[in-house]
Order: sequence, then structure tokens, then C-alpha cells
Amino acid sequence: MKAVAVLLLTSCAAAAASGAASTLVTRDVYLMGTRARLATAAPTRDQGLATLATALDVLERAEQDLSTWRESSAISGLNRHPVGVPWHAGPTLCRTFDEVWRWHAATGGAFDPAIGRLLAAWDVHGDGAIPAPDVRVRASAASGLALLAFDRTACTLTRRGDVAVDVGAFGKGEALDRVEAALGNVSWMVDLGGQISVGGAGPAEGWTVAIAHPRRRDQPYLHVQLRDGSLATSGGSERDITVDGVRIAHIFDPRTGWPASFDGSVTVWHRRGLAADALSTALFVMGPEEGLPWAESHGFAAIYLIPEGGTVRLAVSRAFRERFGAVQ
Ligand code: AMP
Ligand code: MG
Repeated sequence: MKAVAVLLLTSCAAAAASGAASTLVTRDVYLMGTRARLATAAPTRDQGLATLATALDVLERAEQDLSTWRESSAISGLNRHPVGVPWHAGPTLCRTFDEVWRWHAATGGAFDPAIGRLLAAWDVHGDGAIPAPDVRVRASAASGLALLAFDRTACTLTRRGDVAVDVGAFGKGEALDRVEAALGNVSWMVDLGGQISVGGAGPAEGWTVAIAHPRRRDQPYLHVQLRDGSLATSGGSERDITVDGVRIAHIFDPRTGWPASFDGSVTVWHRRGLAADALSTALFVMGPEEGLPWAESHGFAAIYLIPEGGTVRLAVSRAFRERFGAVQ
């Protein structure tokens, strides 16, 4: 679904904040195109397994709703819907789209999931291709949320052109928010590879989470303690494609229609999963020069890992330092 630096759960305590004895139960599964890890601290192993089964069910239903890899998903249905004819979103998707529209506006268009045609022209989800100028111009013209009319009251979306929604930058975050809504105050952690959310009365010191090296996503670069909310990373140069010596980033700048030029990674914390997901993509598009001042001015917790020569330079927002303490 999306290519990002992997965040690895490296350790966690098995004692819940309440002090009650608890057992750590984990499950590793493959979903949303990634290796996922689910964990919960529960009074008994059976209770833990039941919690993880609920979470897994929520994630599978979210994938069925959102995945553009599945012909039968709601989003695939929207992308095929006749131009000019309103498409009805169910209440859950209606709320999802409401958030998508808000983050699109809040990021000045740096987050814009209605770029399916642009990504297809560059074959971003395949082997990569440099499109002919006329193909590129046509794909750009068929991209952007402005081509989708969203009626919040009626919960309808109307395609104003041959536009397609790509869920790569918000689907995992949305799925994690749905897990949060389903699990309530039970202690849980879900790592979707690139984005981790935790909830409930978890380990008092938090879950230890690794932020990957910007060039080698399987190599932890630094660790933070995540007590609540969601941590999302955008980057992952390994997933970028090089065609005829030209690097095609898997993240595009919707404001220009060209691949984003930043080649490091950015990790964002937000209480909500969809927000963290959308923000990490938007901050990647902006790059550190534009993105760090923007994050500071909005009070967002973000850290850029910027490869420079053989080393990595960090650019860290105040809100990130306040939440996670000094990094390096
Ligand atoms: P993420 O890993 O969350 O940053 O999401 C990246 C994925 O979102 C890409 O692989 C594309 O599928 C899609 N995408 C690329 N650029 C954008 C963008 N500017 N806004 C929204 N979605 C994007
Ligand atoms: Mg994202």
C-alpha cells in the first residue's frame, strides 16, 4: 500500500500501567501489502488472543473497504464510478473523506490522494516509467481533489473527471484509527510497517519503537518511547525506482505534478493515525527546508532524517523533542 521506512518494535514491557500482572500476546501477519505485528498486554493469554482477533478483523475489513488492489473495495468502486454521477459513501468512509479533505486543505495541497492517474502514468506501483510529455500532462490534468466534489451532508462524492483516489498515504493510518475505535481502553500496539499506533493503558514507560535509517529501512537508527497515538514514517529510498538514471520517488508533489525531490525520511507523531499518515507524506513532499518551519508553526511533532555524505543529519521540531525527549 505504501513504501516507508519500517518502524520496528524492539521491546516492550509486559506490565500494564495499572500494575496488574499481564501477559504480552503478539501476532505477526501479512496484510495491507506489508508484514504487520499486533501486540496486547492482557490479564490472560486467551483475552489477549481475543483482543488481537478483534484488531485483525478490523484491519481486514478496513483493507476490504480501502484497498485499490481489490476490485471489490469501496474505493475501487468510487474510482470506476461514472463521471458526474454521485457515489454514496457509508458513514465510516464519509468520516474518512472528511478527514482527508481537512488534511488536504491544512497541508496546502501537499497531501492529495486524488493523484491515482499521476502515479499510474509514472507506474509508481509497478516498475516505474518516465511518461511521454502528453501522457504526463493528461495525467496531471486528471489529478487532484478539486476533481472530486464531496457533499458532506449527503455523504456523496462526484467525479468531475477521470480522477482516481490512491489510499497509499492515508489507508494505514485510517485502519489504525478504526482499531483504536474498536479496542477502547485495552492495551494494544499495531505496527503496519511504516506506521505504529498504540492505545489503552499500555506499559507505563511506553512501547519502544525504532525509527529506521533513511537509506536502510531494516536498520534502526534511533529509538523513542511511544505512549499513545501514532507514529508514521514516509521515505524509503529502497522503494523509489530508477529509470534511465532518473530517480522516481514514490511520493509526488501534487502542487507541481513531479516526483518529490527529498531523499531522506520524515517521521511524524499525531494522536490520530490518519493525521500522522497524511502529515508524514505532506512533510516529505515539502522536504526539510519548507517542512520543518511549517511543522513548527503548526506545533506538529516531526523529525527529518537527512542523509548527508556518509552520515545522517536530524531536523527535529520542538513538539517532537517535548514528546520524545532529546534525540541523539
Ligand atoms: P506514505 O508512505 O504514507 O508517505 O504514502 C506514500 C504513498 O501515497 C505513495 O506510495 C502513493 O501511493 C501515495 N502518494 C504519493 N504522493 C502522495 C501525495 N502527495 N499525497 C497523497 N498520496 C500520495
Ligand atoms: Mg502517509
